[in-house]
Amino acid sequence: MAGVSEIEQMLAEALSAIKSASSIKDLDDIRIQHLSRKGRITSVLKSLKDLPLEKRKEIGAAANKARVTLEQSLKDGLERIRAARPTIAVDPTLPGIRHRVGAIHPLTSVMNRLCEGFIRMGFGVAKGPDLETDYYNFEALNFPPDHPARDMQDTFYVEGGKLLRTHTTPVQVRILEMQKPPVKVIMPGKTYRNETVSARAHCIFHQVDGFLVDEGVTMADLKGALFAFCRYFFGEDVKVKFRTSFFPFTEPSAELDITCFLCKGKGCALCKYSGWLEILGCGMIDPFVLSNVGLDSEKYTGYAFGIGVERIAMLKYGITDIRLFFENDIRFIRQFK
Ligand SMILES: [Zn+2]
Repeated sequence: MAGVSEIEQMLAEALSAIKSASSIKDLDDIRIQHLSRKGRITSVLKSLKDLPLEKRKEIGAAANKARVTLEQSLKDGLERIRAARPTIAVDPTLPGIRHRVGAIHPLTSVMNRLCEGFIRMGFGVAKGPDLETDYYNFEALNFPPDHPARDMQDTFYVEGGKLLRTHTTPVQVRILEMQKPPVKVIMPGKTYRNETVSARAHCIFHQVDGFLVDEGVTMADLKGALFAFCRYFFGEDVKVKFRTSFFPFTEPSAELDITCFLCKGKGCALCKYSGWLEILGCGMIDPFVLSNVGLDSEKYTGYAFGIGVERIAMLKYGITDIRLFFENDIRFIRQFK
C-alpha cells in the first residue's frame, strides 16, 4: 500500500511529465496513467476501504489532493499546448474546391409534379406494397382467371404465390376495405411487368393511379377532374379528347388524349403527325369492384385513372429510350438540373 510520501512522489513525477508534454496525446497518456479507472492515483483511492480509519484519513486526504492538483495541472497543460499551436494562414489565391450540386431524377420530378396536380384538387396520397397477392392485384379488380395479364409471361411471380404488382391500383382495394366513402386518393409507385427490355418497354416503371368514390359520382366528374389536371400540367390552352377503351376494373373505360404540346395539334414527329398524344387511361369503377369491398354499388359510384410516369417524362423531355431512366448515367441525369 502506497504511503503519503509515495503519493507525493507520484504527483511530482506526473507534474514534471505534464511540464514537458508537447501534445494533447502526451497529456492524455498522463491522465490515463494516473486518473483512469486503473490509474495509479485511482488505485490508491480504491484501496482506502481496506485501511484502518486513521490511515484512511491521512492517505485519503493526500491522494485526493494529488488528484485535484493533477486535474488542474492537466487543464493548464492543455491550454498551454492549445495556445502554442501555430495558426493556419489562409491563402486566398489557392484554387477553390468545386462542390457538385445534385439534380432530381427526371422520373422523380415528373412524379412529384403529377401528384401535385391532384393534391391541389384535394386528393390524398397513399402507398402500398410492391409485393402483392393475386387477390389485390387481379381478382378484386375483376381480372378474369384467364386474363392474359395473369399469365406467367407478363407478371413476375414470386415464391409463395405472391407477385410483383403490375399496377398501383391494388392500393385502391386496400383503401376501400378500410375507409368509407367519400374517398379521393392518388397512389404513386413502382410497378413491374415481365417485358423484354427495349427502347420502348422496361420491366420496371412508375405509375400514378388515382380514384374517387362517393355518392352520385358520374363520368362528368371524371372528365372535369382530368381536364383540370391536364390544364395544370400541360398548359391552359390544352385540348382533351376521350376515346373508348377497355380495362377490367372500369366500365365504361376511356383513354385520354391531349393536343400535342410540341406542335399544338398541327402534327409533328412526336405525335406521329396526328396532333394528339395519348396520356392516360381512366373510367368509372366497375360496380363489381365496389361491391367486392362491401360497398353498396347502387349507392356509391366512382372513377379511376392511371398515368404512366415514364411515358409523360419521355414526351415532356423528348426522350426516345426508356432505358436511359434506369442506367443512372450521370451525363443523362445532369441534363435535368
Ligand atoms: Zn405534335
